[in-house]
Amino acid sequence: MKLTFAGAAKTVTGSRYLLETGRGNVMVDCGMYQGPEHLRQQSSPEGPVKPADVDCLLLTHAHIDHSGNLPWLARLGYRGPIFTTSATRDLCEIMLADSAHIQEEDAAQDLRKWQKRGHVGPPPQPLYTAKDVPLAMGLFRSVEYGQVVEVRPGIRARWRDTGHILGAACIEVWVEEDGQETKIIFSGDIGHPGRPLLRDPELLDSADFVVMESTYGNRRHESQEVKLDRLRGIIEKAVRNQAHIIIPSFAVGRTQELLYELNGLIEQQRAARLPVYVDSPLATAATEIYAKHRECLDDETKALYDKRDDPLNFPGLTFTRQVSESMALNTQPGPLMIISASGMATAGRIRHHLRNHLPHGADTVLMVGFQAVGTLGRLLQDGAASVKLLGEQVKVRARVESLHGFSAHADVDGLLAWLRPIQGPRAVFVVHGEEAAALDFAALAHRQLGAPTLVPEYGETVDLSDAAGLEQQLAAMGPTWQRPAVVREG
Ligand SMILES: [Zn+2]
Ligand SMILES: [Zn+2]
Repeated sequence: MKLTFAGAAKTVTGSRYLLETGRGNVMVDCGMYQGPEHLRQQSSPEGPVKPADVDCLLLTHAHIDHSGNLPWLARLGYRGPIFTTSATRDLCEIMLADSAHIQEEDAAQDLRKWQKRGHVGPPPQPLYTAKDVPLAMGLFRSVEYGQVVEVRPGIRARWRDTGHILGAACIEVWVEEDGQETKIIFSGDIGHPGRPLLRDPELLDSADFVVMESTYGNRRHESQEVKLDRLRGIIEKAVRNQAHIIIPSFAVGRTQELLYELNGLIEQQRAARLPVYVDSPLATAATEIYAKHRECLDDETKALYDKRDDPLNFPGLTFTRQVSESMALNTQPGPLMIISASGMATAGRIRHHLRNHLPHGADTVLMVGFQAVGTLGRLLQDGAASVKLLGEQVKVRARVESLHGFSAHADVDGLLAWLRPIQGPRAVFVVHGEEAAALDFAALAHRQLGAPTLVPEYGETVDLSDAAGLEQQLAAMGPTWQRPAVVREG
């Protein structure tokens, strides 16, 4: 049995793993790569895996870095099943359509550049278009949390709640080969325990192998109280100064969590009231899907819905529907909060709002999510004095603040707590983290839990049946395990 790391190796995006077994080949996730230039090789959609090699696909959750290349796979002729939870299916329907739209827009822009530059090389093409999305959606098979599903003869899988976004799961996979059963857990993205809306990650008891994320493998989040205090402070200041707060936010997950917290602050009059706009059709549609899938919500949130107190709506909140409403925000005076996608400011309406407000010293840009290296969000977070945006050089005079406590990802303590109860893994493959975070987490998990951790390279294949080879690879990790991992706060 072989496992190939076809993405998210020493980087956060592009999750994609291929498990080759005597019972068929299973791909777990088929995400889009959105990371730094020096890892561009991971953006090759084909990479080390050919669509024809895949018999069945298991999907952990709807985020584009896990699901974004599914329409491409369907376009190239993949017709096998895509198993995932029903909430993830519903979210994918809107997210993949949105992603196709972005692909088409980007390709049209590249085509204009290509024409201007005298048609050098082949004309740019979108990775996929809107018409490939229904093709992929037709392959989805919905499963429920906790249900054991035979995904192929001899291969069973079970989706367990990770409390990351609606419908998100880790997947336990059991493969029966030559009379022996091997269990592999794919963590997907692990949520931060104690967050509102969703349940805490479920804990699992055993596995032969674990493939786990390490986004915040060397960071500790600020506490819930600190996070809300800081949010309240930012709101008070904007109200005093009649200023704008611009929040680049992931349409799915982060936006809903932010609305839940704002709802609490405003309904309990713990913060001054200001007009709040969600200016993202995708975020608006996703918020409706959250309200529809109550089976995924925690007890507190369900109770609010039962009392007909919508936890994702409050006085002063507007979801813009028309482009004209979005444009009208350009001239609306403060105080005003605009929540818009995309979360790393790489696309979407947020770029217009940033262009308008970055030059204003009184305004605040508030980062509430992970900003990958090379994205506009990261440049701002790292203190760039000016940025290129919509074809212009824009001066950054607004204050840029980050609230890490909103992260949908567990921090280092949450990741260790998730891994701790899993007994007996022969190897833990640490993926989905920037190189330092992955290596630091591998060192910490080894020292604190005695876990045999490995940080795979992109395209690397590990033979899970070859015990001696695995021993050798683990032994080579020795220096990494000695790494003096520094955990950063905040
Ligand atoms: Zn995710
Ligand atoms: Zn992810």
